[in-house]
Amino acid sequence: MSIATTNPATGQVLKTFDPMTSEQVDAAIGRAAAAFDTLRRTSFGQRARWLTAAADLLDAERDQVARLMTTEMGKTLAAAKAEVTKCADAARFYAAHAEAYLADEPADAAQVGAVKAYARYRPIGPVLAVMPWNFPLWQVMRFAAPALMAGNVGLLKHASNVPQTALFLDELFRRAGFPAGAFQALLVGSDAVEPILGDPRVRAATLTGSEPAGRAIAAAAGRQIKKTVLELGGSDPFVVMPSADIALAAQVATTARCQNNGQSCIAAKRFIVHADVYDAFCDEFVARMSALKVGDPMADDTDVGPLATDRGRDTVEEQVADAVAKGARVLCGGQRGEGGGWWYPPTVVADLRPPMRMWAEEVFGPVAGLFRVTSYDEAVELANGTSYGLGANAWTTDAGEQERFAEDLDAGSVFVNGMTTSYPQLPFGGVKNSGYGRELSAHGIREFCNVKTVWVGEGKSAGAGAGAHSE
Ligand code: NAP
Repeated sequence: MSIATTNPATGQVLKTFDPMTSEQVDAAIGRAAAAFDTLRRTSFGQRARWLTAAADLLDAERDQVARLMTTEMGKTLAAAKAEVTKCADAARFYAAHAEAYLADEPADAAQVGAVKAYARYRPIGPVLAVMPWNFPLWQVMRFAAPALMAGNVGLLKHASNVPQTALFLDELFRRAGFPAGAFQALLVGSDAVEPILGDPRVRAATLTGSEPAGRAIAAAAGRQIKKTVLELGGSDPFVVMPSADIALAAQVATTARCQNNGQSCIAAKRFIVHADVYDAFCDEFVARMSALKVGDPMADDTDVGPLATDRGRDTVEEQVADAVAKGARVLCGGQRGEGGGWWYPPTVVADLRPPMRMWAEEVFGPVAGLFRVTSYDEAVELANGTSYGLGANAWTTDAGEQERFAEDLDAGSVFVNGMTTSYPQLPFGGVKNSGYGRELSAHGIREFCNVKTVWVGEGKSAGAGAGAHSE
């Protein structure tokens, strides 16, 4: 994939970039290693001041950065502005909480024969962050803010279709005051990832992206015995039970499916509806999906812009065509849009079953699959019946059912009566083929830390403990 800004609303290539040479990459890794030596010795207070300055820059430049993102990947300008604000908020959150999250954790010293004993969180070094285009600022910030606050440094390999957003991020942290090299963007293709991971100065990797990319990066990191965090795809269920507020569920379902032009890992993708309320939900949902305005993502009244890449649009089109050829029904949408951009309308497809691709695959566009079930058990079986396990949504006002869904849905998060989203205060991540490890909250900042055991004895002959027995 060439490194270029291509406007998805027109298909026009606006700017291309030469990939960095291996010598340039080597020099960048050298700067990262040097910056780590400085950053890991700085105080939490200093890092917090720099990260807060980055948040202030984001607030001040919100509209300009938002336009850049919309130009590069097609999300609506309103959504892009909200993304910038979310990044500033997350930066401030980690500036405020990192020190407490990484405070020493004392153990009962007497029980381990010590004067004092504790776990200390220390940064591990340069971390490679391989990131996707769909939330080109947020996916990076949710790695960068905790990483920099922990004293780690970042090397960003961003998706090849958002190079200008990558360069904005490259400058952002330096402009905010972080040492040169603390956060750098490497304009390289995916073929450069394995050699970078093989460099001993790079200590770990995090990927947000597709399952094939996850397998490739985890394998390469495994060969080097380097830790990875993987945030991969999802095919989140959205279960609607008879006690739910159907109008509200249908309204949230529409947003949950079509946010970010349908290209969110935690978008609700499979709508599993109890037979008692199926017709009511279906009517309301299809009406709302049909009413969404597709158009210029820069316009204030646009709900859904183009898909980010022509290949992505082709895949969505093929998945729907496959389902229709095997007997599924299209209730709205279902035909690519006219014009030069990569348009695909909000679409609802019913009567899905194996071996339709939409049954098992993630659909990365504004296309909802609709399923009718007759019991709680059937709903859960269907919800858990894919290889993914990222988020899950359940709609029920029955307290007992709410508790059962929280327990039974096999996913990294369960949202009841609300849309799945990410918050700095809560961990984010998946199970099964949606990946492993967690971002955000205290869990996220600790992923790339050395949890170092410190044991201090009295140091006099009467003091026992050391060497009493090993392991
Ligand atoms: P992608 O093709 O996997 O790309 C993501 C990043 O990985 C890009 O920087 C890409 O570089 C790189 N990459 C791709 N193949 C690679 C390989 N074999 N080795 C090393 N690097 C590789 O993903 P996408 O299609 O752009 O993004 C959509 C996917 O991301 C969906 O599956 C979505 O669900 C998932 N996602 C997950 C989360 C989450 O938090 N769990 C969030 C957002 C998106 P190039 O651009 O140069 O190819």
